[in-house]
Formats: sequence, structure tokens, C-alpha cells
Amino acid sequence: MTDVVIPLADLRYAARVPTVPAQPLPATGLLADRLGRPLRDLRISVTDRCNFRCSYCMPKEVFDSNYKFLPQTSLLSFEEITRTARLFAAHGVSKLRLTGGEPLLRKHVERLIEQLAALRTPDGAPLDITLTTNATLLARKAQALKDAGLRRVTISIDALDDAIFRRMNDVDFPVTDVLHGIDVALKVGLAPVKLNMVVRRGTNDGEIIPLARHVREHYGPAAVLRFIEFMDVGATNGWNMGEVLPSAQVRQRIHETFPLLPLDPSAPGETAERWCYADGGGEVGFISSVTQAFCRDCNRARLSTEGKLFLCLFASRGHDLRALLRGGYSDEQINAAIGLIWGDREDRYSELRSAGQVALPPDERRVEMHYIGG
Ligand code: SAM
Ligand code: SF4
Ligand code: SF4
Repeated sequence: MTDVVIPLADLRYAARVPTVPAQPLPATGLLADRLGRPLRDLRISVTDRCNFRCSYCMPKEVFDSNYKFLPQTSLLSFEEITRTARLFAAHGVSKLRLTGGEPLLRKHVERLIEQLAALRTPDGAPLDITLTTNATLLARKAQALKDAGLRRVTISIDALDDAIFRRMNDVDFPVTDVLHGIDVALKVGLAPVKLNMVVRRGTNDGEIIPLARHVREHYGPAAVLRFIEFMDVGATNGWNMGEVLPSAQVRQRIHETFPLLPLDPSAPGETAERWCYADGGGEVGFISSVTQAFCRDCNRARLSTEGKLFLCLFASRGHDLRALLRGGYSDEQINAAIGLIWGDREDRYSELRSAGQVALPPDERRVEMHYIGG
């Protein structure tokens, strides 16, 4: 018998063409899914490429020189992305996050930000536009991004120690350049800056206190350091529970050195649990999607680089909005299709994982993080 090999790309592209209802349903901004969750946050992946090879996201052995990234023609154009974002805003989305891959690798991404900054919610308010980056190109681009209308940035930094940082990004990139990117972002007014540290037990958990100390001493309340539990997203990062350091333990370690006090969430559906230093040294956050599922309030949708809509970070199938965008459908028709998709949503992967109820059909695999963004 011959084994059938299914190339990764075929699985990555798995998506349904959405149903377009015969009768357009007007967007009311009051859309809710099957679990009563509204749609508020759209994360847009602008490239599936990256100049890092973080082992928890794009392990070198898989994403090597033979890996086929998306061709230019499959990517949504800036006009297509802006049209899609406008339709989502009509459905109640008030926050956009550009992500990737590494979003600053997308040529002229500031022009996209300029277009998105012109969008308004049904109440006439500008959308809250932010971007998550590894900061390798940030020092060069921060001013142009700010001028284009970007409000804030989230920067990934997994260690302060240069050797550990280089090991985490696996392309030997020095941490000093990321620290410089943070300084420039703050200087041009992209503040407060959020800093994301993915914690892998045994790899970089010794960096928790040094990084917390550095952020407190150098940036104070202008930066919020967030600790993210290593997640089982995608199918390539070799995840195992033994490498997850639960947020409760991270928090305890920090509390022993820098006492912490709890804060209220600033917005419904917020992913990070907020704490502040008792001495006024600023805020820290904990994103605990492994040990403390927050699906109940999840109001996020994700648009892949090629226009597939995913309703959960751990989804295995998307909805091919690009087919509609390029298929001559009107805004009303696409709005109605988005309404149907969201109305039918019942994703709650993390909750099911916690309850030991996760099962994926054998011919499906979860999409990779660099493809749909964080
Ligand atoms: N390249 C940009 C960056 O790293 O900031 C943006 C895209 S990256 C996919 C978005 C976020 O996802 C980053 O903060 C990254 O650390 C996080 N991330 C990626 N893989 C992860 C995993 N397996 N577990 C937890 N966080 C992860
Ligand atoms: Fe690139 Fe970000 Fe993934 Fe690291 S986490 S490999 S920087 S996309
Ligand atoms: Fe949202 Fe899915 Fe994450 Fe739950 S697992 S919080 S539904 S993205």
C-alpha cells in the first residue's frame, strides 16, 4: 500500500466558501454568536512570512528554505483588507490588530494603516488600530506608522539576556535592537507599549524577573509586560504541557520580588489578566489560555493573509472571504455572509481543552500561528 502524503499547504488552505443569503441582512452592530458573544476585535494577518524562527511558532526544521509561503497574488491587497475591515466595523468591530508573520515585512504597511485609520464605527468613532511586531524593523518604521494613524504597538520580547534571546528567535538576532525599537516606539508616542513574553519552562523562565525589573526601571507605566503561556497552537511546535509555566506561578514569582495588586479588566473580552506593582512601578498582564480559558468572552475574529476568516485561534477551517471579495459580491451581500458566519459560531477550544473534550477530525489540522496571527 502506498502512503498518501498531504502537503501542508493543502491543509493550510482548507476553507469553505461562505453562503451568501438571498436576502441581504443589514449590519446592525449587534451581531452575537451562538454563545451570545459579540464581534468586536478583528486581527488581520498581513503576511505569513517572518525573519524570526521562534521555535514555539515557526520551528526552523519545518519553516526552512523548502517551505512554500503564500504567493503575492493570494494575499489580500490593502484595498481588499480595508473593505473587509469596513464591513466588520459595520458589524460592531471597534479594534483592529495587524499581525502576521512579521507585519512590518509587508511592504508599505503604513499605507494600509492610513487607509484603516480613515474608517469609522457606526457611531462615527475611529477604530482602535494596533500592531504586534518582533520589533526588528520598528526603529526604522515607528515614525511612519505613527504618522499613518497607528495608536499603539505590542512588541514580542522573550528574554533580556542576549544569548537566550538569540536562542528563542533562532536566527541569532540581538536583543539590543529590540530594546532600541521599544525606545523609538515610546519616543514617537506609540504608547503605552505592550511587551509580550512567551514563557517556556526550562528555556526562558529564568528571564521573568530580569525582564520585569528592566521594564519597571526603564519604562515604568509607559510599558506593560505580559506573560503568555506557551500554547498548543498549530501542529508544528512540539507543544507539551511540561513546558507550560502556569501564569499563577509566574505571578507568584514576580510577587515575591515585586509585590503585586490585582486590577479590574479595562474592557470586556480582554485576554490579559491585569495586575499592578504595589509600589506604583506600572502594570503587568498574564495571558493564560492554557490554564484558564477565557473563551466565554471571546469577541475576536482572525483574517488570514489570503482572506480566510477564522473564528478561533485553534480552528482548523476558515471561511473564504476572498472568494466573495473577488467574486463580484456587493458590500451588503458580504455583510450578510459575515453575519451568518458569526451567528453560527460556537468555538471555545480552550474551554474544551480544559475539560478534556478536544477532538479534531483525522483529516484536519489546526492552522499555524504565523498564518493567522496571534
Ligand atoms: N511576529 C510578530 C510577533 O512575534 O510579535 C507578530 C505575530 S506573532 C504570531 C504574535 C504573538 O503570538 C507573539 O507575541 C508571539 O510571541 C505569540 N505566539 C506565537 N506562538 C505562540 C505560542 N505557541 N504560544 C504562545 N504565544 C505564541
Ligand atoms: Fe515570527 Fe512572531 Fe512567530 Fe516569532 S512569534 S516566528 S517573530 S511570527
Ligand atoms: Fe477565543 Fe478560541 Fe481562544 Fe477560546 S480558544 S479564547 S474561542 S480564540
